[in-house]
Amino acid sequence: MSDESNPKSWRPRTRAVRGGTWRSSNGETSEAMFVTSGFAYPDAGSAERRFKNEEPGYIYSRFSNPTVAMFEERLRLLEDAPEGVECRATATGLAAINASIIGHLSAGDHVVSARALFGGCRYIVEELAPRLGIASTLIDGRDLKAWEAAVRPNTKAFFLETPSNPTLEICDLRAIAALARSIGALLIVDNVFASPVFQKPFALGADIVVYSATKHMDGQGRVLGGAILAHKDLFADRLGVFLRNTGPTLSPFNAWVLLKGLETIDLRVRAQAAGAEALIGFLKGQKGVSNVRYPFDASHPQAALARSQMSGGGTIVTFDIDGGRERAFRFADALALIDISNNLGDAKSLLTHPDTTTHARLPEAERRMLGITEGMFRLSVGLEDPEDLMDDIGRALKAAG
Ligand SMILES: *Cc1c(COP(=O)(O)O)cnc(C)c1O
Repeated sequence: MSDESNPKSWRPRTRAVRGGTWRSSNGETSEAMFVTSGFAYPDAGSAERRFKNEEPGYIYSRFSNPTVAMFEERLRLLEDAPEGVECRATATGLAAINASIIGHLSAGDHVVSARALFGGCRYIVEELAPRLGIASTLIDGRDLKAWEAAVRPNTKAFFLETPSNPTLEICDLRAIAALARSIGALLIVDNVFASPVFQKPFALGADIVVYSATKHMDGQGRVLGGAILAHKDLFADRLGVFLRNTGPTLSPFNAWVLLKGLETIDLRVRAQAAGAEALIGFLKGQKGVSNVRYPFDASHPQAALARSQMSGGGTIVTFDIDGGRERAFRFADALALIDISNNLGDAKSLLTHPDTTTHARLPEAERRMLGITEGMFRLSVGLEDPEDLMDDIGRALKAAG
C-alpha cells in the first residue's frame, strides 16, 4: 500500500510525476520556476546561520535553488537510491562526470576505466586526469580479469558506462562493484544509456551514479543537464565543496524542463525500447546490413549479462552498413525521416556515425579496437511509429545501392 505522505512508498510512475513537488503558498499544480540568482534573508542573523549551515534555507542559486531541488529530489526517488544517497544537478552530463572524477580524486591517485566511453569522458579520464597527476588505466570493461590486473595500491576509483557508447558493450556491475569494494575504491557508473528506467546501479553495488539529463530525462531535445547521485558523506567531503566552488550549476529553467521530462520518462523510454526491439528483426533481414546489436537481442554476446542487470534493453540499436564509408554516407543522406544528429534518447529518431563525429578524436586503431567501423551507425530510436522508421530505412538502403 502506498502512503501519500511517504514518497518512498510510491511506485516508480507515481514518483516520476509527483516526487519532489514543492508547492508555494499559491498552490500551483505544476512546479514553479524560480528564476532567481539569490534569496533575501529575513535578518542578518539568519544570513549568518544559513552560511554556517545552522538554519535551512536557500542562499544563492549556484549552491541550490527550489526548482533545481525539485528536479534533484524527483530523480533521487526515481533512482530508488538507498538511504543516505543524495542527488546534485549539474549543467551538463560532462560536468557531472568531471566533478565525480576530478572533484573527488587527488594527484597521486589512480583511476581504472573501461575503454568504451562517451567521447568527452575519454578526454577526462585519458588526458585531463593524468595532467593533474591522477594516473589512469583504460581497459576492456567486459573483462573482469582486466579490472583485477589494472588495480594498483593507489587505485581510488573505477569508472564505466554500461551499455557503452556506441558499441553497447556490457560491464558486469555486480562483479566489478565487488572488486571495487574489496580494494576500497569507488565505482562510478555512467547510467545514461540504460536510464533510471532500466538499470539501478546502486542495487548492483555502485557508489556514484552519473547522468547526462540531456538524453532521456529531457528526451525532447531542448536543454542540457546532468546529475550526480552519491552518498551524502561524499557530498559533505570534497565532491560537495568542488561543486559549490567551481559552479557547474544547472539553471532553474533547465531544471524545470527536466522536471517535466521526468514525468514522462517511464512511458517514453519503454515505448522507445519497444520501437528499438521492433527494428532489430527488420534490420537483420536487410541486405547490406550486418552486425545488428542490441543488449537484449539473443545475438548480443552479453545478452544474458544484460538481462541479469537491466530490466529493458534500452533505446539504442547499432548496425553496420556494408560497403565502407561511401555507402554509409549515401544511406544516411537518403534518410527522410530519421535525422543525422549526435544526440540520443530523443522523441525523434536520431542517427549518428561515430567514426567521423563523436569518436573521430580517437586514433583509427583505437576506433577499430572498440568496434567502431567505417560503416557503423548508432540509431537512437524515438517515438515515431516503428513502421515509418522501417519504411525510411528501407528506402534509404535502396537509394544507397
Ligand atoms: C551525452 C553523454 C554524456 C555527456 O552528457 P552532456 O549532457 O552532453 O554533457 C556522457 N555520457 C554519455 C554516455 C552520454 O551519452
